[in-house]
Amino acid sequence: MAATLYIIATPIGNLEDITYRAVRILGEVDLIAAEDTRHSLKLLNHFGISKPLTSYFDHNQQFKGERILNALRQGKSVALISDAGTPCISDPGYQLVRDAVAEKINVVPLPGACAAVAALSASGLPTDTFTFAGFPPSRQGKRRTFLSGMNDLPGTLVLYEAPHRLIDTLGDIREVLGERQVIVARELTKIYEEFIHGTVSEVIAVVSQGQVRGEVVILIAAGEAVPEENEPLELVLRRLMATGTLSIKDAAKQAATISGVSRSEAYSEALRLRNSAELA
Ligand code: SAM
Repeated sequence: MAATLYIIATPIGNLEDITYRAVRILGEVDLIAAEDTRHSLKLLNHFGISKPLTSYFDHNQQFKGERILNALRQGKSVALISDAGTPCISDPGYQLVRDAVAEKINVVPLPGACAAVAALSASGLPTDTFTFAGFPPSRQGKRRTFLSGMNDLPGTLVLYEAPHRLIDTLGDIREVLGERQVIVARELTKIYEEFIHGTVSEVIAVVSQGQVRGEVVILIAAGEAVPEENEPLELVLRRLMATGTLSIKDAAKQAATISGVSRSEAYSEALRLRNSAELA
């Protein structure tokens, strides 16, 4: 095999979701770079694959990336896998691919499971336009700012979330984006796979009944555009500040015009929001 970096999707639960091609290529490469080698060893053992393994995760990306690139420069073939699903999608890998592409090393994707796409495909929400925004920030202030930046996006919004933050994040979705239709897709491809449909409040009521377990994807239907004159000052400011392109002064100036308040009122609210985001 010529020097090639294979980006290989692995199952997100059900092991039958690996592809024939993924099994073949994993058995042929010189080296497998895995997010967690112990975790991936179970998958590789299951398919009878025995190959040199090296770790490649968030905190060793720079140093390990260079070693993997060296192997590729020497003409070796390398497979990149993550713990589950498609590498680089809310998983390590982007920097390695970027560097390999910059060196004109052959990069080949082997498509397969991806929780975001699996959830979207069975959600019943429009799929023609969607935004995948990964994990929202874990702190509430930053999460609200992040969500308000999504307010005007067309199409379905797809988020990943940790189960212990699900209820808080749904609460912020209701607060910032309004009472939209949402779907929580839980434990996809596993025994307890479940799709919880409803308004944000309905879904919060369902998931609040017990401890949320397992992995979840949140899908949010596009919102009715809120008439700008009715949009509360705080939301207008959050949306404008989330663009990252406006100074506080300019955001306050625009928000004052949109919301029909004085510039000084908008400016002090903008300062309050900025300070609370910094403290969060
Ligand atoms: N690279 C992976 C992919 O292609 O989907 C995503 C990795 S990311 C670190 C892990 C997140 O993906 C989880 O927190 C959850 O939001 C989502 N996820 C992964 N597997 C899932 C599953 N079986 N059911 C629901 N969500 C899942």
